[in-house]
Amino acid sequence: RPAFIFLAAFIILGIVIMVAISVVQNKPLPQKYKYGIVLDAGSSHTSVFIYEWPAEKENNTGMVQQKHTCNVKGKGISSYDADPDGAGKSLQDCMVEAKQIIPAHRHTETPVYLGATAGMRLLKMKDEAASEKVLTSVEHSLKTYPFSYQGARILSGQEEGAFGWITVNYLSENLNKPTGTLGALDLGGASTQITFIPQQDIESNDNSIDFRLYGNDYHLYTHSFLCYGKDQALKISMSKKLVSSHAAYKTDPIELRDPCFHPGYNTTKTVQSVFNTPCIKAVNFSSGYISHVGLGNWSQCQQSIRKVFNTSRCAYSKCSFNEVFQPSVDGQFGAFSAFFFVMNFLNLTSDSLATTKQKLATYCSTPWGKIVKNHPGTKEKYLSEYCFSGTYILTLLEDGYNFTSENWKDIHFIKKIRDSDAGWTLGYMLNLTNMIPAEAPDTPLMPYG
Ligand code: AMP
Repeated sequence: RPAFIFLAAFIILGIVIMVAISVVQNKPLPQKYKYGIVLDAGSSHTSVFIYEWPAEKENNTGMVQQKHTCNVKGKGISSYDADPDGAGKSLQDCMVEAKQIIPAHRHTETPVYLGATAGMRLLKMKDEAASEKVLTSVEHSLKTYPFSYQGARILSGQEEGAFGWITVNYLSENLNKPTGTLGALDLGGASTQITFIPQQDIESNDNSIDFRLYGNDYHLYTHSFLCYGKDQALKISMSKKLVSSHAAYKTDPIELRDPCFHPGYNTTKTVQSVFNTPCIKAVNFSSGYISHVGLGNWSQCQQSIRKVFNTSRCAYSKCSFNEVFQPSVDGQFGAFSAFFFVMNFLNLTSDSLATTKQKLATYCSTPWGKIVKNHPGTKEKYLSEYCFSGTYILTLLEDGYNFTSENWKDIHFIKKIRDSDAGWTLGYMLNLTNMIPAEAPDTPLMPYG
């Protein structure tokens, strides 16, 4: 009997050991990740994006994910024109954070790219030497970290549009499937981009981009409107109101009665803060103060914004505005960055065009005091401008890009897709690291564990 019990225990122990060995053998090895860093040096701020992807799967679509973002304190690098050293210094905190987040053994192989957009395009137009100093300053700063520095440059508007399109379609995993693609609408502070695959010919070469990704050919329409980001558009719109109300020049401060700001809003601004941009032709008053008074009248606001878009001439079969060729919009669109920030704040991401207009009209007529009371945590500058920004977005999409009440539902206001931000940065890194092959990679023989 004891011999039998001993034998049974021995057999059970053997089985347990065999199961344990097989569990250990089948346990997947810890995943090896690689990393990349892209700095989005926008007109109003800089964000640092850290991406990660499994080392063996880098050429598969949808594998790269955003691991972390860091918002650089202070304004965008183009605001350091008088203090270029400050531009490089401003990046320090976020780069130290990147060192902590990315495992040390990966540091030297991790590429770092800085791409500057319309804020720096404008500074280059205003003062080329200053823009070069700012780029040199951020370059010196980025080279002090243990990563693999790959350059700091100003992206063209076309690149900004095309890489935004690649990002949203990569993240939506549209690129290796026969499904349709997603058009990309990007709104920054200083420029706005529209990029999509049109149904008709692209009549101007400047607006056409071709690529081959995962074995498919893409023929894209893209355009970037410099000065039509929401901060520059606000300056243009305010300057037009000031210039057209000649009587106002005579008072000091100059009174600007603005339908795009809430009733009860009354703030003193410098004339300089409106006119200090190459987006406005020089005028003969550049000093002094403006008393910016809100009227809260949505339809008047929209009328004033329409004046910013010139739709009187078109040398092609169709134009958006300012004589720029644009085919009819087609398919689904992702509208991100400030398109999302503004429409999300206003709770207008899923209404019809008619309802959007009604709600916006009510919002704009709400007294400033009530708005401030209802949104205690929100930055006052953003808060004061949502009526203008919402109306600007609506007017840009409807009167500028020719969206209608029928296809309004095809615009999806989005911030992220599968936890990664929509924007040009991911597409830029995928392109520069050759992570999107022109031909479809071979299907792996063995499925990964
Ligand atoms: P950029 O700096 O060129 O990328 O442009 C970003 C734009 O989005 C600027 O006009 C910012 O003022 C604006 N922005 C960023 N965050 C918010 C927010 N939470 N609400 C409204 N506008 C925002």
